[in-house]
Amino acid sequence: MSQINHHIAEPMLVAYAAGSLEYPFALVVAAHVSLCDECRARLGAHEAVGGTLLETLSAESVSATTRDAVFARLDADPDPETVYQRAGVFPAPVMAALKGRPPRWKSVGKGVRQNILHMGAEGSVRLLYIPPGRAVPDHGHRGIELTLVLQGSFSDEVGHFGVGDLEIADETLEHTPIAGNGAPCICLAATDAPLRFTSVIPRILQPIFRI
Ligand SMILES: [Zn+2]
Repeated sequence: MSQINHHIAEPMLVAYAAGSLEYPFALVVAAHVSLCDECRARLGAHEAVGGTLLETLSAESVSATTRDAVFARLDADPDPETVYQRAGVFPAPVMAALKGRPPRWKSVGKGVRQNILHMGAEGSVRLLYIPPGRAVPDHGHRGIELTLVLQGSFSDEVGHFGVGDLEIADETLEHTPIAGNGAPCICLAATDAPLRFTSVIPRILQPIFRI
């Protein structure tokens, strides 16, 4: 894997380890973690802490029903890597979202294509294909947006994002990402549902954006 310069912010990794991220964001985090040794190691540390907390919980006076519910939820989370392997530029979690099939690209104009993987009340996540030098289209950029580069690159006012790099943006960031020259840019992009201000994401990211 080429060098990754833009990683998962700590509050988001903590939320992911705790299982409190909504699916669209959890998928992007899982895809980044599968590409990034550094974030995989950080996640492992958080999960170890989470496991200790669970053990502590079970030793305390938590009702058996609550404890069973917690463990049932953990068991219900299938590890995508046990089902799907990385295929081409698509990490295993993305292959799981694609159910093992190649993307079904739909044109959204100007050579840009997308494949919506999930769209729900909690947000959406899609694959985007942007020809070299083209602008990344506005895809409902309200709330939080998380973009992971899977092939090629893009640049905006924040910086340059290559394969494995993750950009977190909210509506206060005026940015115009442009795909780099060379291979077409393929991204995995998740957005928070518009007007969903009660979501955990804006709250956990607030301290970051206030800096
Ligand atoms: Zn990382």
